Amino acid sequence: MSIPETTDIAIIGGGMAGASAGYFIADDADVVLLERESQPGYHTTGRSAALLFEGYGNAVIRAITKGGRPFFESPPAGFADAPVLSPRGGLMVAAEDHLSLLDDGLAESLATGVHAELIDGDALFDVAPFLRRDVIVRGLFEPGAMDMDVNAMLQGFLRGLRAKGGKVRTNAEVLSLKRDGGVWRIETRAGPVEAKIVVNAAGAWADELAAMAGAKKVGLVPKRRTAFTFDPTPGLDIARWPLTAGADETWYVKPDAGRIFGSPADQTPSAPCDAQPEELDLAIAADRIMAHTTLEIRRFASTWAGLRSFVADKSPVAGFDPKAEGFFWLAGQGGYGIQTAPGMGRLAASLIKGAGIPADIKVTPSDLAPDRPGLR
Ligand SMILES: Cc1cc2nc3c(=O)[nH]c(=O)nc-3n(C[C@H](O)[C@H](O)[C@H](O)COP(=O)(O)OP(=O)(O)OC[C@H]3O[C@@H](n4cnc5c(N)ncnc54)[C@H](O)[C@@H]3O)c2cc1C
Repeated sequence: MSIPETTDIAIIGGGMAGASAGYFIADDADVVLLERESQPGYHTTGRSAALLFEGYGNAVIRAITKGGRPFFESPPAGFADAPVLSPRGGLMVAAEDHLSLLDDGLAESLATGVHAELIDGDALFDVAPFLRRDVIVRGLFEPGAMDMDVNAMLQGFLRGLRAKGGKVRTNAEVLSLKRDGGVWRIETRAGPVEAKIVVNAAGAWADELAAMAGAKKVGLVPKRRTAFTFDPTPGLDIARWPLTAGADETWYVKPDAGRIFGSPADQTPSAPCDAQPEELDLAIAADRIMAHTTLEIRRFASTWAGLRSFVADKSPVAGFDPKAEGFFWLAGQGGYGIQTAPGMGRLAASLIKGAGIPADIKVTPSDLAPDRPGLR
């Protein structure tokens, strides 16, 4: 029998949630991060559209995104070699029959202090010249939406975690969890670990992990989202186009390193797995994008899919489980887990050390609690 590695806090999951939480927790405690795959970020984190869109998601998501934005704008020295944000802009557009969705979006942006404006006519088609003038009538433009360098952020969090004395174990799938004598005894493929506290940052697998620990599930539903890239028509200058999405959430596109990223904005419930794209979803996406834009999709340059995991109210879950002692939830990041990461990571570290939610992140513990009404 091998001797267990002991630590204050074991984080399960090496995606953006686990890495960012580990970075902040390691300021005050010993941390071991356990990741099943050979590479952190292999699952949802490595498959995102990489946009920081403050006007996206419910009020809780918006507040956490806002609270984390200063970290993105000026990360600590040594966090990344280059800025992790670059200007992009976010544009929601509607045909005549969906204009009310833009009004709703504008009202929500105003209520949460996000700068956004309704645009139409030349102002709209100057910003997004590839939209079909005979179909699209108006847009809601958030000029401050930014591209995020997801890999630089993930590596920055992991590097920082290690620099503070934390450990990152890959190929370390957690196989079982047992609370015994005030510690969690964790069996992993890389050997046993003992920790006072476990952080459940297992992404789409968070409910499975909870069941393993004897905690009640929160009703997490992983939802598959398909994505692809294609080449623009030669000669098109796409570099400054904003991420542009149908207001009815049926398609979106954005420039991506010289190519165009597209998605049908699908959200098909799925078991936790290594998600793969379906031919039908790719075909639907191409149809919808060509119906709303003048872009031509002749072939895909790359295709993939990832799981965005939600609980019923679409807010994240962060907090100690009410029954399973020392079991901290960090799940349900949905389609916002990159843009919320600096806020969520800091908030999780603060809750774990009993210091409450940082004053600049305007949410309450009950907004995020694993036992809040309606989840289980
Ligand atoms: C197409 C698409 C577009 C998106 N666009 C955006 C966007 O523009 N902006 C944004 O903010 N967000 C976006 N998202 C959402 C974002 O990617 C997710 O919210 C985020 O990556 C979730 O991070 P995570 O760490 O919770 O999950 P993951 O990255 O999936 O990490 C969970 C990790 O836990 C590990 N794990 C699970 N079980 C175990 C176990 N038993 N033992 C050890 N390890 C285990 C897994 O291997 C995995 O690496 C998008 C997602 C998709 C799919």
